[in-house]
Amino acid sequence: MNCIFCQIIQKEAPAEILYETDHVLAMLDIRPIHFGHALVVPKLHCNDFLAVPGESFHDLMRVSQLIARAVVRTYGLEGFNVFSNNGRIAGQSVFHFHMHVVPRYPGDAIRFAPMLKSYTGQTMAEHGERIRGNIQP
Ligand code: 5GP
Ligand code: ZN
Repeated sequence: MNCIFCQIIQKEAPAEILYETDHVLAMLDIRPIHFGHALVVPKLHCNDFLAVPGESFHDLMRVSQLIARAVVRTYGLEGFNVFSNNGRIAGQSVFHFHMHVVPRYPGDAIRFAPMLKSYTGQTMAEHGERIRGNIQP
């Protein structure tokens, strides 16, 4: 097994673990954007968000909130980001799904700054229609 997060979950590699349940583990990111930057990972290996097993979802969100609350309390934060990168093109570098919980500070100049597009005419309705047609509950 050469997945670093699986090794951490199996206690075969070191990590600063913050919290664990049967389904997820929360730890400090080894190269933080800010100190206290945490990762919450499902214990079952899955590459990305699309592959997260259903039974992991509740704890993923619940523990992400628990860690975010703790980080806010610890550093007296005004704000934080919770996000995941999925696929290399989206910035994913460890292919075991994880949620990032990242403290934010005034003036820290961390920007996700896309060139925003505008829907015109019926295009918003067309995009909605296409996506609704691909929802497979
Ligand atoms: P990604 O780029 O896939 O969204 O995020 C992967 C994150 O995992 C990065 O922020 C990186 O610093 C962190 N990371 C990579 N290897 C290790 C490790 O061995 N231990 C810990 N705690 N974090 C790691
Ligand atoms: Zn893994």
